[in-house]
Amino acid sequence: MARVALVTGGQRGIGAAISEALQTAGRKVVASYAGNDEAARAFTERTGIPCYKFDVSDFAACEVAVRQIEADHGPVEVLVNNAGITRDAVMKRLTRDMWDAVIDTNLGGCYNLCKLVWDGMTARKFGRIVNIGSINGQAGQYGQVNYAAAKSGIHGFTKALAQEGARAHITVNAIAPGYVDTEMVRAVPAEVLEKIIARIPRGRLGTAEDIARGVLFLTADDADFVTGSTLSINGGQHMY
Ligand code: NDP
Repeated sequence: MARVALVTGGQRGIGAAISEALQTAGRKVVASYAGNDEAARAFTERTGIPCYKFDVSDFAACEVAVRQIEADHGPVEVLVNNAGITRDAVMKRLTRDMWDAVIDTNLGGCYNLCKLVWDGMTARKFGRIVNIGSINGQAGQYGQVNYAAAKSGIHGFTKALAQEGARAHITVNAIAPGYVDTEMVRAVPAEVLEKIIARIPRGRLGTAEDIARGVLFLTADDADFVTGSTLSINGGQHMY
């Protein structure tokens, strides 16, 4: 039987490429999203992958959704925590609300989903979890104190949880993408983006498919010995 893979934020951007790659690899994929119904409808129409709407930062909503997903499709055995947001501002303008939104979504979402699938994975003695971090969690970034803290937290979270899961054959890894051509990055002013690309040895932005390839590697059934690692996919921009 195909294993169920849940990809948060899995109907557009990097998440959509991850969902489609996992589907091609034979997983039964379920995508989640926050509010973009139009993108979700179009994605399901194109791929057949069902989309569930819930806020990853809301534990109660995640609990209801995971119960529903497992009732509809079976236990989640592959989890990709990809949903993320930015609320960029320098410290002078960084409000408590901007801080909370980014920490609660990007890092809190990882806790919420991992917590909800953990007991099932432990009982079945199989699990593959990939958390999407960021180059800016590794290196920091001007104007992104909240985002860098959340993504850096994901890298620590991953290493700690990997230690807890290892004996139960649950692997927990992170991917730290560099700058990838999605709506999130298209929001960066053109002159800033030009400077960013100039600093990427490969000389281009990443593609969502570049990141999906890493997820496939880390979630393979036989990837049993890779856990607690962070895979940097950044065109050589930051070698960690
Ligand atoms: P996009 O902005 O293109 O897509 C974000 C996705 O996350 C959407 O599906 C969105 O749903 C979903 N989402 C956002 N907030 C929530 C929430 N509270 N609950 C549920 N779902 C939510 O992002 P990218 O594809 O660019 O990024 C994907 C991941 O990769 C993020 O974690 C990001 O931080 C990380 N990353 C991206 C980089 C890049 O260069 N693009 C670089 C490094 C890391 P909806 O469509 O409904 O809004």
